[in-house]
Amino acid sequence: MEVETKAKLNNQRETQNRSAAWTIEDSERLYHIAGWGEPYFSINAAGNITVTPSGDRGGSLDLYELIVSLKKRNIALPVLIRFPDILADRIDRLHGCMNKAIARYNYPGTYQGVFPIKCNQHKHLVESIVKFGKSYKFGLEAGSKPELAIALASLEPKSQSLLICNGHKDREYIETALLATRLGHDPIVVVEQLEELNLIIDVSAKLGIDPKLGLRAKLSTKGSGRWGNSTGDRAKFGLTIPQILTAVRTLETAGMLNCLQLLHFHLGSQISSISTIKDAIREASQIYVQLAKSGAKMKYLDVGGGLAVDYNGSKTDLAASKNYNMQNYANDIVAEVKEACEEKEVAAPVLISESGRAIAAHQSVLIFDVLSTDDVPRLPPEPIEAKEHLIIRNLWETYRALEADNCQESYHDAIQFKEEAISLFSFGYLNLTELARAEQLYWAICSKITDLIGSPLAEQSRDYLPDDLKDLEQIMASIYYVNFSVFKSAPDAWAIDQMFPIVPIHRLNSQPDKKGILADLTCDSDGKIDRFIDLRGTKSVLELHRANPTQQPYYLGMFLVGAYQEIMGNLHNLFGNTNVVHVKMTPKGYEIEYLLQGDTIKEVLSRVQYDAKDLVEIVRCLTERALREKQITLEESQLLLQNYDRSLSSYTYIL
Ligand SMILES: *Cc1c(COP(=O)(O)O)cnc(C)c1O
Repeated sequence: MEVETKAKLNNQRETQNRSAAWTIEDSERLYHIAGWGEPYFSINAAGNITVTPSGDRGGSLDLYELIVSLKKRNIALPVLIRFPDILADRIDRLHGCMNKAIARYNYPGTYQGVFPIKCNQHKHLVESIVKFGKSYKFGLEAGSKPELAIALASLEPKSQSLLICNGHKDREYIETALLATRLGHDPIVVVEQLEELNLIIDVSAKLGIDPKLGLRAKLSTKGSGRWGNSTGDRAKFGLTIPQILTAVRTLETAGMLNCLQLLHFHLGSQISSISTIKDAIREASQIYVQLAKSGAKMKYLDVGGGLAVDYNGSKTDLAASKNYNMQNYANDIVAEVKEACEEKEVAAPVLISESGRAIAAHQSVLIFDVLSTDDVPRLPPEPIEAKEHLIIRNLWETYRALEADNCQESYHDAIQFKEEAISLFSFGYLNLTELARAEQLYWAICSKITDLIGSPLAEQSRDYLPDDLKDLEQIMASIYYVNFSVFKSAPDAWAIDQMFPIVPIHRLNSQPDKKGILADLTCDSDGKIDRFIDLRGTKSVLELHRANPTQQPYYLGMFLVGAYQEIMGNLHNLFGNTNVVHVKMTPKGYEIEYLLQGDTIKEVLSRVQYDAKDLVEIVRCLTERALREKQITLEESQLLLQNYDRSLSSYTYIL
């Protein structure tokens, strides 16, 4: 006994020492913050995440303190924080890189990008983009009629910003796009399907407007990764080479070949490998020069989207990363296009890109709190009694003999013994207490193995771990119940296994002593996050701190969620939009520039055709009936009605 207590004390002391030695640099390495966060996110001396929205050109704020002050303002979690200064910085950066490349290669043309609205359609965001992009003549790209409606009302007439009109088009779309020229806009209608061409020729003749036209090419360069099949012969979008030639002839016959000014392609989103981008630009440049030679008044080459975001910070061609930076991307586009045009003596085009993800991802951070945690039992087993069942003695022996170099074998034995115990139980040879003993020993073995295979920082060792022991890490993981819905706030994490960096926004000066997975609020087993960023790909558990949320809140941030997540999020389990705040830096600190209250229960119910007043009335009638039948007291009925009524006006998340 005494020996054991001593060992325990030693152990405790060791943990404390380790904890004391833990620095913010350790956290920085553990969560790869510089990799995905630079220059916007880092850790300050207090161990909190700091946000530096304009990079090294501006001030910073403490994200944890911001959350504390938002809570004092009665803004509940989960909350999505947008940093418009980050958005401005992304736009500046993109233009900086393109212009630097243009200068470096002496490119005779210019760059004039557009923002694809589908990436994030929210009004304040689109307005900010238009505002920040004005001096660059940064335009908008619409992929549908509703997005065209946004673009028409958002761009400033005569600003010379482009309005790229992509997507399926009917007569109404085309008429609206063409008439937009009368308002002083500069729309370019991109033909994605041959059928659209006849419609465009017809509308143009009727309105007497010569449109600027583009063709979307279906490149043979295969994109890679998740969206890889946005190109290739059977891709959903664009014209094949024979179709492009047909389009040229059709325009020629209609006397409109001079309207054809743009070539467009889009490789898909999050292109991780620079070689794919290079191949595509090379192929598209050749099509461009050929079109120019064929008599079209070619002026623009639109390279679409695809500029990737390094979600895991590994700078590799893993799906969650990219093996190039924005400057490499700009250089390759400019250099390849220049070379192709020079060789064929064609005037260099105005370069257009449609980067969505790379512009919008960084500016949004979702902050949510941990509601509770659930650990697997880690109690050391009580010593064995001689007369216990053989299976229990076997488990005990496995536990006792367990050492670093027999982990794998012991683990297999433990699994086998546990399964045997369950079947013995099923046939009536073990009683409930004995089965409980067996399970307890099994967990004790698992937890001893986990302790033996290393601390959170022993990442090296993970490389050499056999797969089954890696599974063990996940089996032993704590479950952190968190206050948000994956389906609402990070739908791509569920739908396509996309990864977003997730990091505690405070306590980073102490060692995260647990490994966990996140379980969201929905009653859906898919509503969890159990894949996390890792330099080598993914890891199945996240290092987290011991949390006791009833005493001290524990806040996590999910970063880089500004692209696609908000609009793709759904109402599963009727968790609605989260609160959104825009935080703008000021010379003296920051201000909450804008608050968008999240949905109330009433609001999400109305989306599924329930009227709050009707519901209250129905429940009131039910209480009256229960009163008549003496099933409820008047006080109880009032309490019920008040709660019911109040909750309809409250947030859909846990308060
Ligand atoms: C989705 C899309 C984009 C944006 O792609 P990102 O990878 O977000 O930059 C650009 N152009 C078109 C045609 C698209 O469909």
